[in-house]
Amino acid sequence: MPMIDKTKPVLVTGATGYVAGWLVKLLLEDGLTVNAAVRDPNNQKKIQHLVDIANASSGTIRFFKSDLLEDGSYAEAMEGCELVYHTASPFSTSVEDPVKQLIEPAVNGTRNVLEQANRTEAVKRVVLTSSCAAIYGDNADVHRAPNGILTEEVWNTSSTSTHQPYSYSKVSAEKEAWKIAGEQSRWDLVVINPSFVMGPSMNPKQTTSESFQLVKQLGDGTLKSGVPRMGIGVVDVREVAFAHMKAGFLPEAEGRHILSGHNSSFYGLAQALLPTFGDRYPIPKRALPKSLVWLLGPMINKALTRKTVSLNVDVAFKADNTKSREKLGVEYRPLEESMRDMFQQMIDEGLL
Ligand code: NDP
Repeated sequence: MPMIDKTKPVLVTGATGYVAGWLVKLLLEDGLTVNAAVRDPNNQKKIQHLVDIANASSGTIRFFKSDLLEDGSYAEAMEGCELVYHTASPFSTSVEDPVKQLIEPAVNGTRNVLEQANRTEAVKRVVLTSSCAAIYGDNADVHRAPNGILTEEVWNTSSTSTHQPYSYSKVSAEKEAWKIAGEQSRWDLVVINPSFVMGPSMNPKQTTSESFQLVKQLGDGTLKSGVPRMGIGVVDVREVAFAHMKAGFLPEAEGRHILSGHNSSFYGLAQALLPTFGDRYPIPKRALPKSLVWLLGPMINKALTRKTVSLNVDVAFKADNTKSREKLGVEYRPLEESMRDMFQQMIDEGLL
């Protein structure tokens, strides 16, 4: 049960990311020194928002150049850190080569970061940003889970490098993390497993997260004729950041944590936007029939294969978030608020 010394620096890998942005903000506002590991510390567009937050807070930020695929490249950034947040991992469903673009950075990157933790005497705890994708692959899996609900006990056994490769990258990376953690006893591993993350970004114009692609399509007319009733869990990015803080600093935090505020669907996300934006934006009003999605899906999005449609459309998602509420004290805001804040930000930034 490590007690983290807040005068020591904290490492955040992938600090430029959507989820990491809010975590870095909380750390800086708490007065901590954040060692931000990023691929390109000279890319002003990717890091300026973090500098601005640091300038407005009592904390300090320092940037380090690190790449998941370069062995040893987190050494300098991790030096003197008792707490390591490993958030970096590519999140995209439209890739040409899933092995090179998703699986290798996720798995080899996790190994790279955690082996560095083994070599860095100061490290007491690693918090890994995994995903609900490490818990289930397709919605059909939810119904095979005990009592038809996902819990921290469940593991994704259905994804492969060709079927749901992003999910496969996440489950493989998390398994690797538990394996490496189990081979030593100096640091402990705490895992956060968010479902689909929604809510505003700290750096909306530069965000690469898949979260934004979907919401853009809900507003730009791409999906105006309808959206599949494809079950999905949703959580606000601010709750995800809060949970990371608790997972880092609560000595008794342990194991995996499902972070999911709402059992919803793509159709449900559109419904949440309609009352505020439906009169001004071509937000889908109806659910597409499964048969139509099955027929047209592969032409619209490469990830929407017929197998994916069969196992996910018109199939509900259901996850148990009790542990996150009871152990980490997470309070989930309404889905409408997350969607409204995110959509409004995209309008304000000229992205819609
Ligand atoms: P982003 O794309 O915003 O963030 C991904 C981060 O990973 C970026 O900082 C990116 O750096 C970094 N990264 C990617 N490849 C490499 C690499 N080869 N070397 C170093 N850094 C790299 O996505 P999110 O914020 O959404 O994702 C953050 C984490 O949260 C991921 O682990 C993701 O799997 C997880 N997650 C996200 C969910 C969501 O719905 N958004 C749901 C559940 C989990 P750069 O800026 O240089 O590209």
